[in-house]
Amino acid sequence: MASYPSIADDPLRALLDAAVDAIVLIDAQGLVVGFNRSAEQLFGYRAAEVHGCNVSMLMPQPYRGEHDAYIDRYAHTGERRIIGIGREVVAQRKDGSTFPIDLSVGEFSNAGVRGYVGILRDISERKRHEAMLRQNGEELRRIFEYAPTAMTTTDLEGHILRANRACAELLGCRIEELVGKRHSDLVHAEDRPRLLAAYAQLREEGGEFRQEFRYPRRDGTEMQALLYSAAVADDGRQQMIISELVDRSALLAANREAEALRGRLTHAARVGQLGEMVSGIAHEVNQPLTAIANYAHACRRLLQSGDATPADLIAPLEKIATQAERAGQVIRGLRTLARRGETPRQTLQVNQLVREVLPLIEFDARQAGIRLRMQLATGLPPVHCDEVQIQQVVLNLVRNAVEAMNGARSSDVIDIVTSTQEPRFVEIVVMDSGPGIAPEAADRLFEPFYTTKPQGMGLGLSICQSIAIAHGGELSYYVNERAGATFALRLPRLD
Ligand code: ADP
Repeated sequence: MASYPSIADDPLRALLDAAVDAIVLIDAQGLVVGFNRSAEQLFGYRAAEVHGCNVSMLMPQPYRGEHDAYIDRYAHTGERRIIGIGREVVAQRKDGSTFPIDLSVGEFSNAGVRGYVGILRDISERKRHEAMLRQNGEELRRIFEYAPTAMTTTDLEGHILRANRACAELLGCRIEELVGKRHSDLVHAEDRPRLLAAYAQLREEGGEFRQEFRYPRRDGTEMQALLYSAAVADDGRQQMIISELVDRSALLAANREAEALRGRLTHAARVGQLGEMVSGIAHEVNQPLTAIANYAHACRRLLQSGDATPADLIAPLEKIATQAERAGQVIRGLRTLARRGETPRQTLQVNQLVREVLPLIEFDARQAGIRLRMQLATGLPPVHCDEVQIQQVVLNLVRNAVEAMNGARSSDVIDIVTSTQEPRFVEIVVMDSGPGIAPEAADRLFEPFYTTKPQGMGLGLSICQSIAIAHGGELSYYVNERAGATFALRLPRLD
C-alpha cells in the first residue's frame, strides 16, 4: 500500500491518542490519514488497517456508496451539509455491526495537506435511553387513553389538558370537545362554585379532594359522579391536577331501589303483624266500647230513677270519657301502624310512643297470662325518628317476648324499660323471662327468614335491626342473668 503523508505523526499523535472521543482524519479524497486509539476501540480496526483506505469503510450502505459524492459535492459547491455542523449518523464496526454516532466534521489544511477531521462519539447508550423513555411515554399515554376509568389532567386553572376515552364516553362527548374546556364548566351550575373552591385549594395547598358533583349530559340526563382530584407537585410547586371520575348514578339508583324495597317489605311485615293481632286488637277496642255502653246505661237509669243529683253523674261520665279515650288510642295506634311507606321523621318522646303502642298487644298478653310492665324514665331527651317504624320495632319485640313466654309459663311479666344510655342514646329495653335463646340460635337471630316458629316468617328482627340502623341507632340482644331474653333498641338522643 502506498504511504500517505500523515499529519498525525508526532507530536500530534500523542494528543490524538489521549482524546476520549474517536478521531478520524481523512484527506481531500476521503482516504484515512489518521485514526486515534479511541477510534481503534470504537471500530475494532487497528490504525494500520484503515490508513489509506476510503473512510466510507467505516459506514454502512447506502452511505458507504454515496460518501465520495458527498466530498465531491462539497469540493465543487462549498455547500456545507455536515462540516462545521455535526449530526447523528450511523457507523459500522469491523465485525459489520452498526451503531449510532454523533459526528462533527472540521476542515483542515496543513503543510500542503488538505483534509477533514471527524470527531465521533458513540451514542448507542443515549439512543437506547431515549428509545426507552419514548416507549415508556407511549406506554403511559396508552394506559391513560385506554384505562377503563374516566380520567383527566388539567392545568392549575382547571383547563382540561387531556381526557381519556372512558371520560368522553361517560360525559357523552368526544375527547376533542373536552380538551381546553374548564372542568368546572362541565358540572351543574349549582355545583360550580364548590368545584372552583376545591381547585383553588389544590392550587394553593396541593393535596387532594374527593367530592360528588352533578354532570349534565348532552342527552338531557344527569350523572352523579365522584370526582377524585390530586395536585401533582414538582419541587414543592403544584404543576397540574389529575382527576378520576366515578359514575355513581347506577349505585345511587340501586340504593334508592333497595331503600324502596325495604320500605315495602317493612310495611308488608307490619300489616302481617297487625293481621295476626287483629282479634286481640278488636277485643281491645270492644272492651272500652262495652264499658262505655254500660256506663251510659247506668247514667240513664240514674236519671230515670229521679233520685240522681248531677254530682252522681260525674263519676260514670268521667269513666265514659276515659274509656272512649282508650278506644281512640288503640284506633290511632292501629291507623298509624297501617300507614304505607315512610312517614317523615319527627321529634318524639319514646315514653309516649311506648304508651301508645302497648295497648295493641295488651289483649294477646293478657290471654297468655302475661303482664306488660312499663318502667319509663322521666326527663328523657327526645329522639328524631319515624314514629311508625319505631312503634313497629317495639311492637315486634314485645310480641316476640309474649310468644316466647306463652307456653313457658315460667313468669308472668314482660318489662318495657326506657332510659338514657351514655354517651348519646335513648334506650327502649324489652325484657322477658321466657326460655331465652340458645347460643347457636343467637348468632342467627337477625338473619332474614330465621325462625323457630311453625308460622313464623323470620323477618321481624331483621327488619327491626335495619330500622334501628337507618336511624343511626342499634338493636342488640342480651342473655338475661336469670331466665329469658332482653332486646335493647338504642336511638340517638336529640339534645
Ligand atoms: P319470627 O317471629 O317470625 O320467627 P323474628 O325475626 O321476629 O321472626 O324472630 C326470629 C326468631 O328469634 C324467632 O323465631 C325466635 O326463635 C327467636 N326469638 C326472637 N325473640 C325471642 C325472645 N324474646 N325469646 C326467645 N326467642 C326469641
